[in-house]
Amino acid sequence: MIKEHELDKLIICKKCHTLHEKVLIEAHEKAFCSECNVLLYLDDKHMLDKMLALVITASISLFIAFQFTIVSINIQGMEKSLTLMALFMVLAEHQQYVVGIMFLFLIFIFPIAIIFSTFLLLFFMKIQKAGYLTKRLLILLAHLKPWSMVDIFFISLLVAMVKLFDIANIEIGIAFIAFIFTLVLDMILTKGLNFHELWEMHSKIYGQINER
Ligand SMILES: [Zn+2]
Repeated sequence: MIKEHELDKLIICKKCHTLHEKVLIEAHEKAFCSECNVLLYLDDKHMLDKMLALVITASISLFIAFQFTIVSINIQGMEKSLTLMALFMVLAEHQQYVVGIMFLFLIFIFPIAIIFSTFLLLFFMKIQKAGYLTKRLLILLAHLKPWSMVDIFFISLLVAMVKLFDIANIEIGIAFIAFIFTLVLDMILTKGLNFHELWEMHSKIYGQINER
């Protein structure tokens, strides 16, 4: 019988299914299969930096998406520029409560929670501090991940726009583009969040004792 901790040290080649024993690799090094030369794994620290850069870019574009005009509407010759928050208020005024609540959760709460907690997690893992907090963040993110449904964000945004169409003429603003950009980044980010690797990295950084 192979014990679980011994299993962690083994890796199977995705192509030829040869079993390899994992060895420690240095920064920017890669491990290849000895049979078919396929990439098995690469240096973790590099991944942390790339993800951190991605999450910072996503925060900036999310900020632009919230701060600037998402749509300009024309009501009886009056031009009005709306931010995401103002768009939400318009939905509430027109008694679009179901769309409004969907909008609030999928567009405000989940993306912000995911981007903010991913940033904190990667930042503290990078500076190798707050082992207990990062452990909690990993658990939180595992719960939030299923809620990062980019396609649903986009559909709910379109629904909100269509609902507004019968009251006004709509012109798309800079925040709309920033918002779509954020969604794409968010999708790449959540796809890239490999919890198995993150937990492994966590125990490598903080050791077995997590209260540090
Ligand atoms: Zn192989």
